[in-house]
Amino acid sequence: MPITLDLRQNFAEPLTAEYAITDEMLASVENTLVKGGQLTASVTALKAPEGLRLTVRTAGKAVVECDRCLDDMEVDIDTVNTLTVQTADRFEDADDIIYVEKTQKELDLWPMVYDFIALALPVSHVHPEGQCNKEMAERLSRYMVQQPDDDTETN
Ligand SMILES: [Zn+2]
Repeated sequence: MPITLDLRQNFAEPLTAEYAITDEMLASVENTLVKGGQLTASVTALKAPEGLRLTVRTAGKAVVECDRCLDDMEVDIDTVNTLTVQTADRFEDADDIIYVEKTQKELDLWPMVYDFIALALPVSHVHPEGQCNKEMAERLSRYMVQQPDDDTETN
């Protein structure tokens, strides 16, 4: 587990740990939008009445495909997200709550951190004007025009 939080620690005082996010981790995610990068996740954990409060700052550079020419490009990521870890004795349906068993010793935060990175990506990512791979961009735009519109579904 690449980003593991040891739940047996005493979180009465805030505890911060830094984790490096590697190309390998990003590439191992199925259907990943992020092909690689140099990122750091800084996780601060503190005990709170509602559970264990996690503040996760994920920052660095992510490598994604340019929407226009499909060449690799870097985007800056700097995002702060919060999560609450609760034991599974009460269930509320909330996005930012993670349930663990009372006996659970460790928590793998990597799936959540990956989501934070994916959510922080700009909706469209293209190279600055004029910096695309020209040959690819031209070939792709021709290809797109020639594709028939295949929206119709038959039941
Ligand atoms: Zn491009």
